[in-house]
Amino acid sequence: MLALRKTAPSPGLWLGEISEPVADPGEVLIEVAAAGICGTDLHIADWSGGYEAMAAAMPVTLGHEFVGRVLHRGEGAGGIAVGTRVVVRPSVVCGRCERCRSGRAEDCITRTGIGIARNGGFATLAAVPAENCIALPDELDDAVAALAEPMTVSTESVDTGGVKPGDTVLVIGPGTIGQGAALAAEAAGAGRVVVAGRNDSVRLGTVEALGFPDTVDTAGTTLREALTRAGLPVAYDVIVEAAGAPAVVPEAIDLLALRGVLVICGIHSRPAPIDLTAVVRRHQQIRGSYRSPLATWPRVIAFMAAQQGRIRRMISEEVPLAAGLDAFARASNRTASKIVLRP
Ligand SMILES: [Zn+2]
Ligand SMILES: [Zn+2]
Repeated sequence: MLALRKTAPSPGLWLGEISEPVADPGEVLIEVAAAGICGTDLHIADWSGGYEAMAAAMPVTLGHEFVGRVLHRGEGAGGIAVGTRVVVRPSVVCGRCERCRSGRAEDCITRTGIGIARNGGFATLAAVPAENCIALPDELDDAVAALAEPMTVSTESVDTGGVKPGDTVLVIGPGTIGQGAALAAEAAGAGRVVVAGRNDSVRLGTVEALGFPDTVDTAGTTLREALTRAGLPVAYDVIVEAAGAPAVVPEAIDLLALRGVLVICGIHSRPAPIDLTAVVRRHQQIRGSYRSPLATWPRVIAFMAAQQGRIRRMISEEVPLAAGLDAFARASNRTASKIVLRP
């Protein structure tokens, strides 16, 4: 079968034929229908740092945002019937550690990621633990459903920020996580949602197509200046940083309202310089946000089914897996927003 893999701890990806997987005990075999390329995959492809631990798993098939149909059940893989359409949660947890036993499985100490530390969905077939599969409602399309994992990350950022009805919210970073954060903030009742990017016209166009006209591109200027010029607010109750750009963090703090909350969900390659005394005097909070709890998934899937027409606009291209290497190149240079591979 065809698979897109990371084969060595250096820049680059490999696309080619490998043998088909089998479902081990407790696993199911999935015929993959749609798998999204995400920023994590781009970091791994470029080998730009932060994923060194993956080397032990190589060669490994990438793809952690995917949907498919259950083809076969391994021994003892109960619960989900053959033929069911499912989305795969990428976190494989032990179920035994103190965190798993106290209902915080998303923080499991031995957590491994499907598509990172074990084979994922950029392939015709994938063998995954049955308990990682969540059945999809019939009305939710495969390609749209492949956005469920990033949508849970976006939703977690808005939940972490505690967005309340009427809040003024700024999202920095117009990629898929930022787009999802704008949708989740609106769903939480935000009174105004502004989205900022830098040299990012294609993805800001996607944000506008999602129904958020208040966007700014900070190319050649500061965030405050760009907002002022556009006649947009310069004080926000909640700011979600989904750009992974350290320089933007002090700019975000400067735009935070008294007692405001800055949520960081970007992955930063360097420390950010911040004026903590200003944060203290203005009684502000900085919170990190990463994986969502399991309980968020059904809520996000129901939201996606209800908002399918809008969420579909987040997908800029659907391409065959065989054209996956070119698709990675377009995703890297931001000429595409979300690309979904169709094995
Ligand atoms: Zn992802
Ligand atoms: Zn555990």
